[in-house]
Amino acid sequence: MLDVAIIGGGAAGFFAAINIKYQHPNLKVAIFEKSKTVLGKVSISGGGRCNVTHSCFDNSQLISYYPRGNKELLTVFNRFNPQNTIEWFKQRNINLKTESDGRMFPESNQSETIINCFLSECKQLHIPIYIQKPLLDFHSKEDMSFTLFFENETVNCHKLVFTSGSSEFMWNMLKKKGIPIIEPVPSLFTFNIKHPLINGLQGLSVKHATVSCTFDKDLLKKHQLKKDQLSQSGPLLITHWGLSGPAVLKLSSIGARIFNDQSYQFSIQVNWINDSLDNTILQLKKLKESNSKKKTTNTPFTNLPSRLWESMCALLKIETKNWGDLSQNEINKLAIFLTESPFDVNGKSTFKEEFVTAGGIDLKAVDFKSMQSKQIKNLFFAGEVLNIDALTGGFNFQAAWSEAWIISQNIA
Ligand SMILES: Cc1cc2nc3c(=O)[nH]c(=O)nc-3n(C[C@H](O)[C@H](O)[C@H](O)COP(=O)(O)OP(=O)(O)OC[C@H]3O[C@@H](n4cnc5c(N)ncnc54)[C@H](O)[C@@H]3O)c2cc1C
Repeated sequence: MLDVAIIGGGAAGFFAAINIKYQHPNLKVAIFEKSKTVLGKVSISGGGRCNVTHSCFDNSQLISYYPRGNKELLTVFNRFNPQNTIEWFKQRNINLKTESDGRMFPESNQSETIINCFLSECKQLHIPIYIQKPLLDFHSKEDMSFTLFFENETVNCHKLVFTSGSSEFMWNMLKKKGIPIIEPVPSLFTFNIKHPLINGLQGLSVKHATVSCTFDKDLLKKHQLKKDQLSQSGPLLITHWGLSGPAVLKLSSIGARIFNDQSYQFSIQVNWINDSLDNTILQLKKLKESNSKKKTTNTPFTNLPSRLWESMCALLKIETKNWGDLSQNEINKLAIFLTESPFDVNGKSTFKEEFVTAGGIDLKAVDFKSMQSKQIKNLFFAGEVLNIDALTGGFNFQAAWSEAWIISQNIA
């Protein structure tokens, strides 16, 4: 009889197993993994460098990076946060370095460093890892222990930890046992847009833009969203397929459910200069006076990339005009274009192959002091199997580490 069975050899599974065994060396702990290899996502994460966490040490700020799960994660981060992650790896001779945007990676710049650390910890702690061993079903028994069903084998265990990531099969299994599941939808994607303004401009970026979209009140209410949440600022990148960059990724994450509801067909507005319409009209009028003899295309407005500015002027048919020749109507149209460029989004694409799933185990069904199921005693959850997901930057792993650590402190 096993004391603890961990289902899923990913980030959360390994972190849970290692910390449980550290905390309770006498417990018999084992990891069961469906695939041939373990830690598959860790291997490819962060472009092969593994963005382990984020240098954000204020827990109330940290939770703002989680569109789903922020309230619940506060208690979790109060007990294990990025500072603890840094120390945990340091104790195992892995130093994490911080990049200018706050993302933290192993100094080696290789996810192998993290994988080797986990594997050697398991070896030292005598944690068996069973690969190609998908869990097919489980039964909870009257004495609050479990029988696990694998192909040609059953295993009994006292405690069961689900760290199976985003798996439809596992969510359906849990649903049948009465665990409520929020329908999974993709998060962290870029917007497919075809528009003459950005045609041929792939690779151009704008440092600080705002991307917004509007939906009617009922739809916002259905998805528990406030209007201003669907307006996100940051760098914006023009790609072959449309628009990407942090502003779009943030919006895709926050609006993951509403965009899915709309089958990824919706309209957005881009404020390329992050200024108000009125102020922009004022600034353009000043430019008209001070540059009256200069061609519009030769004097890009603010810091807009010149090719984007030229494309804007061409679309408004003012590219051959001097500033002084612009009518009030043209100034107004230009200001609207700069601050409220409308685009139709028609589908989504994956960002650098990075994505997470929004949805999973309903957080109402979990006691976040222990990460235990409220329905089934001795059943624990951590990682992407939960309805928790974050923006890019190391936050998804941080949630997995923290939740797994909480389990280790409460499983005995
Ligand atoms: C390309 C890519 C890059 C990413 N980069 C980053 C990054 O740099 N930083 C960051 O914070 N986040 C990143 N993420 C997100 C991050 O990888 C996930 O949030 C994280 O891996 C979740 O960990 P997990 O252990 O919950 O799930 P997973 O890592 O997905 O592990 C779940 C495991 O369970 C196994 N499993 C499923 N069903 C069964 C079953 N029936 N029986 C046994 N085992 C089963 C799966 O095979 C898998 O190995 C990235 C995601 C992708 C796709």
